[in-house]
Amino acid sequence: MPLNGEGGERSELRLALSKGRIFDDTLPLLAHAGIYPLDDIDKSRKLILDTNLPEVKLVIIRATDVPTYVEYGAADLGVAGKDVLLEHGGEGLYEPLDLQIARCRLMVAGRKGDKTTPLNGGRLKIATKFVNSTRHYYASRRQQVEIIKLYGSMELAPLVGLADRIVDLVESGNTLKANGLEPLEHIMDISARLVVNKASMKMKHQKIRPLIARIAEAVALKQEQQR
Ligand code: ATP
Ligand code: MG
Repeated sequence: MPLNGEGGERSELRLALSKGRIFDDTLPLLAHAGIYPLDDIDKSRKLILDTNLPEVKLVIIRATDVPTYVEYGAADLGVAGKDVLLEHGGEGLYEPLDLQIARCRLMVAGRKGDKTTPLNGGRLKIATKFVNSTRHYYASRRQQVEIIKLYGSMELAPLVGLADRIVDLVESGNTLKANGLEPLEHIMDISARLVVNKASMKMKHQKIRPLIARIAEAVALKQEQQR
């Protein structure tokens, strides 16, 4: 028996989004697919937003929870940063589309001019929210480090001696600069991806395929305009 609310069972399509840049940058892509939210997200406290299409709902959740909702089929689709997907472990999800929004870089940063190198087999302390990506990065360089898990405000850690370096998302570099930090190493480029529940993709392909195609078209159009 499928669980109540499991992906394939509902006929309604649920798309999971987080407030802020993901929501703001996804709206124009949805508009191209003919989908408009009926509520103003900034005024409404609702977590499930109706759209102009009765069978499409938007569910508003924390960025880091998006892969979980989609993997369990509580949402059929979602938009999540590649950073979030790498931390979650993306095996349970389809990732059919790079939306090219919420673009930034995952970087190592440290105090400006700091030359700290680990002495005699000592380990650099790296503070980050992105534990998996950080572990993977240093392992690939065969560099032994101590990773300290934080949930936010990573920039503070090197300033108060909690860590030697941070691994964080950088867009302009202004936040680093404002805190006397500088980018040191580029780990990878990050952008938001469309993710789809595996059962939904099978059971609801007639609704989901054209939606993905329209969103892909919107992404391509936007890329062209920016060129
Ligand atoms: P929360 O704020 O709820 O703790 P969050 O910080 O992950 O979660 P956002 O700040 O909205 O939420 O970030 C959502 C996604 O946007 C991130 O997962 C990342 O992919 C991308 N992102 C984060 N910071 C930046 C940035 N400075 N520039 C561009 N994209 C970013
Ligand atoms: Mg944030």
